[in-house]
Amino acid sequence: GCNNFCSYCIVPHVQGREVSRPVRDVLADVRELAAGGVTEITLLGQNVDSYGRGLDGDSDLASLIARVARIPGLRRLFFITSHPRDLSPRLAETVSGCLDVVCPYFHVPPQSGSNRILRLMNRGYTRERYIEMTSMIRETVPGAVLAGDFIVGFPSETAADFDDTIDLLERVRLSSSFIFKYSPRPFTRASAMPDDVASADKIRRHRLLSDLQHAVSLQENRKLLGRTLEVLVQGPSSTDPDRLTGRTRGNRIVIMPSNTGRPGDYVRVAVADATPLALYAEGVSPAAGPAVTAP
Ligand code: SF4
Repeated sequence: GCNNFCSYCIVPHVQGREVSRPVRDVLADVRELAAGGVTEITLLGQNVDSYGRGLDGDSDLASLIARVARIPGLRRLFFITSHPRDLSPRLAETVSGCLDVVCPYFHVPPQSGSNRILRLMNRGYTRERYIEMTSMIRETVPGAVLAGDFIVGFPSETAADFDDTIDLLERVRLSSSFIFKYSPRPFTRASAMPDDVASADKIRRHRLLSDLQHAVSLQENRKLLGRTLEVLVQGPSSTDPDRLTGRTRGNRIVIMPSNTGRPGDYVRVAVADATPLALYAEGVSPAAGPAVTAP
């Protein structure tokens, strides 16, 4: 669940308040999975950074991550989704100190770059705070990869508000984003606001922001050309069954030749080409080996 009540979001209304599972239960689950051969785990929460509220002691996400990362057999640990207001320097420092296991991937949805719209969304931060937070992560965590979500066409969003969103993405350069056109959800505060951004404007803003995200993603992915990255092989590519797909430690998609490995293998691949959505690997350097910190 979630305690935040962002004005557009139905989650707190249908899933209720957030609950933190006891640390010992999470550790027991992960130990059992790791003993059974699972090597990649994701700690999942609507607002995973608020983990620990309501638990006895001083449990928080940072201390949980540090303890999970020490469980034998685990090679990759992700945590999603982070709230920009709650992502703390302590968490970034913990990730930085556990990079042999913890993946430096931060899904931190900005939703908008306009302070007026962020207020109406009840997000609890400003664009300035968001920009500071991204700088803090990048300064603290080597190889950090940031991704997020945006909503365009929120009630009363003007062309100037949307320009602020474009400007924010240009500044923070997320590696990828999910971009949604606003539509009202029942029970939410925003559903009582006039849904007054014309459909054509929502479509145009969605296209403009998507085009910008694709350009940024392509530039960021091209920086990896020639680099050797660790990839966890997942299975046949959905777009080309004659190739394999996998993910880097920065959660980037990699398309590889079918003889690169088998699902579940960790391989090292050389990046030969890049699109906004994926990296393409050709040559394969010796498979497996110890985990490496790479985007
Ligand atoms: Fe909670 Fe996320 Fe929904 Fe906001 S958008 S209410 S943080 S689940």
